[in-house]
Amino acid sequence: MGSRCDCTRILALAGFRVVTMTSDSESSASRLTIRIERRGIRRYPCSGCGRRVGRVRSSHDRIWDDLPWAAHPVTVIYAQRRACCRQCGIRTERVAFADPKARVTRRLRQEIGLDCQSMPTSHAALRHGVSWSKARRAEAAFLADWDRTRPRHRPRHLGADEVQRGKGQQYWTVLSDLVRGEVIGLAKDRTEDSLRTLLTTCLDARQRAAVTAVCLDMHRPYLNAVGDTIRHAEVVFDKFHVLQLASAALDEMRRQEFFRSGPAMRAHGRGKRWLLLRRWKTVRGSKRAELQRLFTANRRLFKAYVLREQLDRLWTYKTRPGVLNFLFNWIDALRWQRLPEMDRLGQSLLRHLDGIAAYCDHPVRFGVVESINTTIKAVLRRSRGMRDEAILLLKLKWATARPIRSARDLARFLSPQGLYSNR
Ligand SMILES: [Zn+2]
Repeated sequence: MGSRCDCTRILALAGFRVVTMTSDSESSASRLTIRIERRGIRRYPCSGCGRRVGRVRSSHDRIWDDLPWAAHPVTVIYAQRRACCRQCGIRTERVAFADPKARVTRRLRQEIGLDCQSMPTSHAALRHGVSWSKARRAEAAFLADWDRTRPRHRPRHLGADEVQRGKGQQYWTVLSDLVRGEVIGLAKDRTEDSLRTLLTTCLDARQRAAVTAVCLDMHRPYLNAVGDTIRHAEVVFDKFHVLQLASAALDEMRRQEFFRSGPAMRAHGRGKRWLLLRRWKTVRGSKRAELQRLFTANRRLFKAYVLREQLDRLWTYKTRPGVLNFLFNWIDALRWQRLPEMDRLGQSLLRHLDGIAAYCDHPVRFGVVESINTTIKAVLRRSRGMRDEAILLLKLKWATARPIRSARDLARFLSPQGLYSNR
C-alpha cells in the first residue's frame, strides 16, 4: 500500500489525515477500513456553537460508509470526541464530512440520493454496497436538505386535485403550483379539512396573498376550503373535468337510445362506448366510418355528439360576456331536441358558469394539472407503492421541480459543499 500521505491525499477529507488502512482479505473487492484523525492542533468544533474546544471528556469510535476506492468499499473510522464547551456544556464534536447521526458520509449521501431519483431504492442500495434502509435514510436526508435550502416561490396559480391511492376508494389531495408545474403539498383524503390544512401549512401568509387563481374540479369540499383560506383568489374549473361531465351525459344518452330500446338497437350500440367518447379529430379511417354508421342509425345521438364537440369552445373566449353568449346559444340549440341528459348538462354548466368564465381573466395551464398527475403515477409505479408519505412528498417535489436540467446542475449536486441549484 502507498504511504499514509498518499492515502490522505486520495481520501481528501478536508482537515483529516489517514492513520491506518487495513483490508479484511486479499481479494480484489475487499472492504477497506480507514482510520482517520484530525490534522494540526487538537481542538474540536462544538456541535452546539461551532467554537473550537480543547477539553475532551471522552471519545468513542464512529464509522461511516464512504465512496469506494476502485472495487473496494470503504469504511471510515474516527474517534469522535465529547468535548466540554464553555457555552453549551458537554457536546459531541462536529464532523464536517457527515450529517449528525448519519451512517454515510455526505458525498456518498449525494450519490445515493441522486441515484434514487432515477431508480428504485433497492437498486441504488446495491450499486453503492449499502443496505436498503441505509440507502433510504441517505435519500431522505438528501431530499430534505435540497428542499430546505432552495428558494421559496410565491405561486400565482394553484391547483388542487385528487389522486387515487392504490385500487380502493382512497385518495390523496395534491396541491401544486401550476405556473412552475411543481407539487407543493400532499394530504390524505379529499375532504375540506385536508385541503385547508394544505393551504395553511404549506404556504405562508405572503405566499397565499400572491395567489390569484385556484384551479379545481367541481368538488364542493375543495370549493369551501378555498373560500375559507384564500378568499381573494378566483376559482377556475378544470377543463378536463367539465368535459368529463359532457362525456358522461353523452354516454348516458347512448345507453338510453340503444340498450333500453329493444334487442335490434342493442346490437347496433354494442362495443361502441369508447369510440363514441373519443373526439372527432382523433378518430381516423375505418373507425370514422363506423361512427358515421352509428349516427345514421340514431340522429339524436348524432346531435348530442355534435353538441359535446362544440363545448370546448367555451375556453376560447377572451371575455366573460362572450362565454355567456356562447353558452346561451348552446342551450338554445337544445330546444325541441328532447335530449334530457344534455338539458341537465346545460343547467349544470350555467350553475358553474363563474368558474368556467374565470378562465378569461386567469389563463391557468390545464395541461400542467394532468402532467403532474402522470408524474405522480410514474413515481409510485417505480417504487411499487409508497408507505412513507413524507418521503413520497419529497420525491414528488423533486420529480416535478426537475432541479437538474444541465450538466452544471448535476456537478453542483455531486460536489459535497457546493451550492444547490437556484431553480
Ligand atoms: Zn458550544
